Amino acid sequence: MGGHISFFNSVENYVDKAAAFTDIPRGLIEQIKACNLVLQIRFPVRVGNDYEVIEAYRVQHSHHRLPTKGGIRYAESVDQDEVMALAALMSYKCALVDVPFGGAKGGIKINPAKYTTEQLQGITRRYTAELVKKNFIGPGIDVPAPDYGTGPREMAWILDTYQALRHGEIDSIACVTGKPVTQNGIRGRAEATGRGVFYGLRECISHEEDMKKIGLTKGIAGKTMVVQGLGNVGSNTALISQTEGDVKIIGIAEREGSIYNPNGIDVEKLLAFRKETGSIMGFPGSTALENNLAALELECDILVPAALENQITVANAHRIKAKIIAEAANGPVTADADPILLQKGIIILPDFYINAGGVTVSYFEWLKNLSHHRFGRLENRFHHNQFDGIISKVEELTGKSINVRERDFLTRGGTEIELVNSGLEDTMITAYQQIRETMKQHPDIPDIRTAAFVCSLKKIASDYISMGIFP
Ligand code: NAD
Repeated sequence: MGGHISFFNSVENYVDKAAAFTDIPRGLIEQIKACNLVLQIRFPVRVGNDYEVIEAYRVQHSHHRLPTKGGIRYAESVDQDEVMALAALMSYKCALVDVPFGGAKGGIKINPAKYTTEQLQGITRRYTAELVKKNFIGPGIDVPAPDYGTGPREMAWILDTYQALRHGEIDSIACVTGKPVTQNGIRGRAEATGRGVFYGLRECISHEEDMKKIGLTKGIAGKTMVVQGLGNVGSNTALISQTEGDVKIIGIAEREGSIYNPNGIDVEKLLAFRKETGSIMGFPGSTALENNLAALELECDILVPAALENQITVANAHRIKAKIIAEAANGPVTADADPILLQKGIIILPDFYINAGGVTVSYFEWLKNLSHHRFGRLENRFHHNQFDGIISKVEELTGKSINVRERDFLTRGGTEIELVNSGLEDTMITAYQQIRETMKQHPDIPDIRTAAFVCSLKKIASDYISMGIFP
């Protein structure tokens, strides 16, 4: 853990800084900041002829809305403080983007690369069973999702274990999100966080007066980007920014090192290259940089740390040359590095805003699961017939006709992926506009992170007050 204060304390400090711009009573701020429930678990896993004790957590930070929601992380960095900080960020994230959940997070302190698939399955199933025993999982209680080191495969194991133990529960498929599409998942969840990062960045860069202040033109096309971490979030951010935003990816950092190409790196080819060779190093056309942190210091418009926390610290903050930092990972900038970057005039899009796409689409998946049907199934054909009728009538009245392709476009209903992406796009744009509006109303709020915390705090406080807990 870098910096002088813990990750959880740094989240608390950000909240205190924002609280000063609200009139929420002090006691209520303290309640909002507190972690409501912390579960620490130890269980054995068999490795060879011996056993190993596994350390795991689930933290429910806030119960002002239920269920609580948050990913499960498999990493060696996991400890109680980290899981508490990540759970707290989930509460502020859900409030900010109007996803009606409290915040939670889970973590297992392992390096998944050191275990076989069978061992990982055993660990995941045992962890789920512990959560079931303690009533820490369920569609109306606490709903996990993927995070660092986990993905759809782990979510499928969790669902299967839950259903085996809670046979007959009608909404059981909503006990976890980020499931494979074939296992009651939703299209668009896998890339949702990266896609959300892209929508948030595009919205930020669309405001000419804000861009002028940092010496950039408006419009995301042609901007240069550096990405750290080519996992779920980083690779999708890079891919979507490149293909849909015409962004030039000039630097990439992974565990093994970092590479640079001022003419742009084809992300799709790089991912295929890494799959084949196991490394990004030696990718045709690229130059190797000194080490895996060096890419963060490249001259670029947008820097996207998408690996883990504590990547930009007092040690390297003064060497960062990016104009915008999009915190795709949670907590990539330490609390003491934050003011150094702001002093340099860098725009920081805070983690709990910019990476909220994942939980947003998880919410859509949960809704789909609870409704037990695919979005659009009931109404698509009905709307098609209705629109088709309107167009035929217009053709009849005007004596003119449109071609088949135009008719097809105007009469069809949205597919699941189109509905998911449009809901995600709207969510990211709306939240950014709320933050921006807050800054306009309170010109004394110094930065976007503080403004975003003000938005979240007001919503959570109003939930508590309407519950009658704080009259
Ligand atoms: P992931 O496991 O899919 O990928 C992480 C990647 O980072 C891996 O490729 C890993 O090799 C790389 N990495 C590790 N150490 C590195 C280093 N020192 N330098 C460069 N690369 C390094 O994880 P993810 O799901 O993409 O999560 C990444 C971050 O995004 C985490 O902070 C997570 O909490 C956050 N996040 C994830 C989601 C989600 O939906 N998965 C949602 C919101 C936030």
